[in-house]
Amino acid sequence: MNSLIFIALFSCSPDKSMEDSGSENANVEPTDAPANDVPLVFAASDVEQSTIDLTLDWFDIAKSTWFTEDTFGAEHELYFPTYLVLTGDDLQATIDLEQRYCEHLYEHHAESVEHSRCNTNHIDPNCEHGICLFTEYALNGGAGIASSRQNDGYHLMIMSAKNPSPEEESYRRIILHEAFHIFQLSQHTETDHNRSEEIQGRLSGDHDEHVPWWMEGVAEYTSILLYAQQNGVDSDYIQNEYKNKIGYFNPDTGAPVIDDYFDLGIKLYNIKFDENALFGYQLGAWFVAYLMSEFDEQVLFDFYQNIHIDTFEENFIMHFGMPYQEYVDEFEIFLQQDPENLLSILPQ
Ligand SMILES: [Zn+2]
Repeated sequence: MNSLIFIALFSCSPDKSMEDSGSENANVEPTDAPANDVPLVFAASDVEQSTIDLTLDWFDIAKSTWFTEDTFGAEHELYFPTYLVLTGDDLQATIDLEQRYCEHLYEHHAESVEHSRCNTNHIDPNCEHGICLFTEYALNGGAGIASSRQNDGYHLMIMSAKNPSPEEESYRRIILHEAFHIFQLSQHTETDHNRSEEIQGRLSGDHDEHVPWWMEGVAEYTSILLYAQQNGVDSDYIQNEYKNKIGYFNPDTGAPVIDDYFDLGIKLYNIKFDENALFGYQLGAWFVAYLMSEFDEQVLFDFYQNIHIDTFEENFIMHFGMPYQEYVDEFEIFLQQDPENLLSILPQ
């Protein structure tokens, strides 16, 4: 299958934030050391060493929490190699980085590289800078996973130090979010594209297009919870993040994101990666919080240990007791109350 397909799909909407000024730094070359259980870093020359260190530190928190020995991913050695690409906002530095990264793929992944943008036959005619593997991150910021471990032979995690900047809390939290995607993507050995998307819930819903609600909702929920457990994080971090997701800032204005969702009239599991995708992320995270107010968090991890066996629908019913459509119906009733009451389900 073609790894190009994945480029946009796992891109994760960053929180709005200030632009990083991006300061110059010595060229950071990737090492050739085998990446057994740490990411192999490919950093653009304008990325600070402190940003690389920070990103690896937070990746390590995710790894030690989620990539545990008792998981399918560990048993099948699927968490690594992970290539961690860090861009700043310097386009030429990012274009140089694309070349270095492609050289690595040609050396170590000769077969799958043919399906990537490193192959000049796959250059996007609309691409204006470099080969548009990483340059969009230098231009727009953001983060994403752009690989299929089962087909490519590696995970590719891309972080932009532009938006949010590494000084911001959300940068650290997004590292956890992306690392959780690696956890999700490592719990099966399926190489068929549609089947691997189906078991992740990305082909749930009443149409055949990708939907963010489940995979992104779970990554949001788990990353917010893990972040909140770290030293020095505000005790009301979870509440504030979840208030932000529904636009609930004071009792007078209510929760406009919830109002807009009902006005939209599209079921959560039918919301696509289009102009409404943010509802999938934000209310997907709320849906998972709602689910987790009724189940132990271990059930969620058990769910992932079963994705290599059952379909998403079967797996959901097995672990959460009813079809996801019915659960979303219940969730919608839950949402129709004073926003202050909604907060009471969140973990403290
Ligand atoms: Zn994501």
